[in-house]
Amino acid sequence: MLEYDQALTLIKANIPAPRREFCPLGEGLQRILAGDLFARVPLPSFDNAAVDGYAVALHKRPGIEGPLQFRVMGEIRAGSISRGALKPGEAAKIFTGAPVPKGADAVIMQEQTQQLQNTVTIEIFPALSENIRFRGEDIQKGNLLLQKGTHLSAVHLAVAASSGFARLPLIARTQVAVLTTGSELIRPGGRLKSGKIFDSNSILLEGLVQEAGASPKSLGTTPDRPAEILKQIRKGLKSDVLLIAGGVSVGDYDFVKALLKKEGVAEIFWKVNIKPGKPLFFGRKGKTLVFGLPGNPVSVFITFQEFVRPVLLAMGGRESKKQLCEGRLTQDYQNGSRRHFVRALCSENHQGYEITPLKGQGSHMLGSLAKANAILDLAPEACLKKGERVHVEKIGGMA
Ligand code: AMP
Ligand code: MG
Repeated sequence: MLEYDQALTLIKANIPAPRREFCPLGEGLQRILAGDLFARVPLPSFDNAAVDGYAVALHKRPGIEGPLQFRVMGEIRAGSISRGALKPGEAAKIFTGAPVPKGADAVIMQEQTQQLQNTVTIEIFPALSENIRFRGEDIQKGNLLLQKGTHLSAVHLAVAASSGFARLPLIARTQVAVLTTGSELIRPGGRLKSGKIFDSNSILLEGLVQEAGASPKSLGTTPDRPAEILKQIRKGLKSDVLLIAGGVSVGDYDFVKALLKKEGVAEIFWKVNIKPGKPLFFGRKGKTLVFGLPGNPVSVFITFQEFVRPVLLAMGGRESKKQLCEGRLTQDYQNGSRRHFVRALCSENHQGYEITPLKGQGSHMLGSLAKANAILDLAPEACLKKGERVHVEKIGGMA
């Protein structure tokens, strides 16, 4: 049986390079930019007024006392073009964002002026260039606007828009087909008959896929009947990644592995020496990567987190570093013979972080997973003492 690191190495060797696509700007939020963007225009694009007021061409030197008077030649609105240059002693009424005319030395705030017919008077001598926003003072044409690999926020999209980009090169979203199998499964909302359980793996996997920045395609749930599973496998193999939960173990009704083989999926490995999630299957057909995840919900979560998530992050051009937190263990903990991913609670107090392994570590216990905010990764036979410093991986975040 493979060890964790060996399995991860085999998986990583099969990850395809991210694909690029051009998408409308409006689809860019939370996506990854696939190429550098350079400013198409300077920002501001032209010298313009920062306030409503008067553009003035000075006719006296700084330092001169007493009011200054200017002849008002007209007005310049935002969105209009400025005609003609101002000569010394002339002014133009101007509004925020309107182009400052040639010859203007400053824009005076309306509140600091008095206009009487065609004359405007100011009491205080202005600073040169006061209230003028200069062409290119924020971003110069040709400057790097956004770097390849940027995780796009609303602000990043606004910067691209301000340079006129209507479409962006983005890393293509990885398409991930999700199938759950098991004759015991009922969709939430259905009637729970005896011996049946609600399917929680579909929603779990589809959500985890989205949290990893990829796009889930639900194939629903099938009973443990080969013909039906096969039909869904065929559909799922059209995606970049196919995830199948349940039916990959050694039971008489665990058909998934044999059916994958029948459909031409080459097995890369089956079984990893970890707890939970030992019967994990990984294979490939052409470009499609296939994971068979053991059906217990916590096994699904752990195998996704440890093996599938890094694949989706890499294919999506996202960083795949684990979010680690260091803290002191609140109790002794003795591990068994397999590498164990233990659900834990990481809480902060005045001395730093405390790590408490949760009660109920069975792989069927979704309730204790819901209480956990961290995973403690324990080596085989690890014997930890209360107070010892350990690292945990934080869980539940978006990429
Ligand atoms: P399997 O991997 O098919 O042997 O399933 C292992 C355990 O996980 C069984 O107890 C199943 O009932 C349970 N299980 C399988 N699929 C699901 C699912 N979609 N939702 C919740 N539990 C499941
Ligand atoms: Mg089953």
